[in-house]
Amino acid sequence: MEYITHSPEETEALGAKFALSLHPGDVVAFSGDLGAGKTAFTRGVLRGLGYTGRVTSPTFAIANEYHTDRADVAHFDLYRILDSEALFEIGFDEYLDGSKIVLIEWSENAADILPDSYKTVHIQYGTFENDRVVTIDEVKKQ
Ligand code: ADP
Ligand code: MG
Repeated sequence: MEYITHSPEETEALGAKFALSLHPGDVVAFSGDLGAGKTAFTRGVLRGLGYTGRVTSPTFAIANEYHTDRADVAHFDLYRILDSEALFEIGFDEYLDGSKIVLIEWSENAADILPDSYKTVHIQYGTFENDRVVTIDEVKKQ
């Protein structure tokens, strides 16, 4: 499904709506350029799950964890994680044990160890400055 948003608030609202389809064990792989709105969408997902606190980019922390009534959530930013050794060092694989909702920015850097099934959210810049094209899909390997 493709959506166009016109502000960060609209992208957050889309994330909040998308969150209603998520359950523990779901993995969401984000892709799209720096500043596209991956963290904005994630902020919406956490709002949609009922989290009311601050949601910040985990760029430096690598991972942020949240507890909501609906699920435990791990939010990764793998921008600086460039090989599978580094992934294992941060214990990334352990988060894929099916107990949490796992949201992954720069998921390209974990392509080799993503599970067989996951959702994808691709965000691109649109025609006008604050336009974003958000494409939500699902991958199901055999
Ligand atoms: P990413 O995590 O993809 O690097 P962020 O969510 O951190 O991106 O930042 C997105 C930036 O783009 C923010 O500064 C936000 O205000 C701005 N922005 C402008 N229009 C939009 C939009 N439609 N959706 C999301 N962010 C937008
Ligand atoms: Mg980000």
